[in-house]
Amino acid sequence: MKLREIGEFGLIGRISSRVSDGVGVRIGIGDDAAAAEPTPGRWLLVTSDMLLEGVHFDLAYTDPFRLGRKSLAVNLSDVAAMGGEPRHFLLSLAVPPGVTVEFLDRFTEGMLELAREHGVTLIGGDTCRSPHGLVISVTLHGEQAPELVVRRSGARPGDRLFVTGTVGDSALGLELLRRGERQGWAIDRHLDPTPRVRAGVALARAGLCSAMIDVSDGLAADLGHILDGSGVGARVELDLLPLSPFFREHAPLVSPTPSILALTGGEDYELLFTVPPERSGEVAPLLAETGVAVTAIGEIIAGSGLAVVGPDGREAAVGRGGYNHFCDGQ
Ligand code: ADP
Ligand code: MG
Repeated sequence: MKLREIGEFGLIGRISSRVSDGVGVRIGIGDDAAAAEPTPGRWLLVTSDMLLEGVHFDLAYTDPFRLGRKSLAVNLSDVAAMGGEPRHFLLSLAVPPGVTVEFLDRFTEGMLELAREHGVTLIGGDTCRSPHGLVISVTLHGEQAPELVVRRSGARPGDRLFVTGTVGDSALGLELLRRGERQGWAIDRHLDPTPRVRAGVALARAGLCSAMIDVSDGLAADLGHILDGSGVGARVELDLLPLSPFFREHAPLVSPTPSILALTGGEDYELLFTVPPERSGEVAPLLAETGVAVTAIGEIIAGSGLAVVGPDGREAAVGRGGYNHFCDGQ
């Protein structure tokens, strides 16, 4: 079915009919603005991410269901990286001619499935026509007690550096997609990433982290944001980077330097965080309760910049090499 047969309000109606009531939501989709009751004494955390066809996703690689899930996942990951509990979100769409109602239904189903998994509610948005390319913008609200919110700026020399899950899978998945593959574990990691919401909240509640960020642009690039924000440097041991069995097997086939791919590849949506040394032993047991693996990969040092220790024990300064929209890379 063509979108013009149902129009803007038909589409909004199809979206809102799939939305169930949310905790604290007083006015949902359908009025001029939504209204929600904040939890007294907590900060509202607000984040927004835009996904552009041809820049952030390729409709030849993904399907609408997973695109819907990922559009929300990237925002959940940002709230998680602050230690926040996600609450509600807005969805704005610019839809080009040719996108079908069935495509948008599947997109909505995927997004709302992930929303249910995390107890978040769609409360509004905006819908318009795009001259070329699908544009998806999600704005997510979360909340947390002020003293538990984790920023990028609190890392101190001596703090231990941790990352959840494994890194490099998403970049490997994207490379495999470019080479014509359509299925596999790394491709799933790229098209349907898992935001570490429970891990982020658990870390915040325990007050363990001095700084935290999610790995969206690449471990080196995102660590760089912590280092800049905190005015410190870091030493990372290449051999300690957590690599999945799939990555270990397949990355050497697409890259002469798999560990550099793991260090610079983006979109893993893992949490990268620092913990004062006297509390670093609490990290693994805490995250074991959330079912998320965690690995110590290095430490924060005085000074600036990232030093990477290779397998031979030698240190090399490393450029950030992550994804940067306005640069060609370093
Ligand atoms: P307005 O003209 O006041 O901007 P709209 O006609 O754009 O209102 O939207 C009507 C209602 O539908 C509002 O509650 C708005 O938040 C909601 N809405 C619009 N687009 C979307 C969307 N893509 N997803 C969810 N809700 C939407
Ligand atoms: Mg509007």
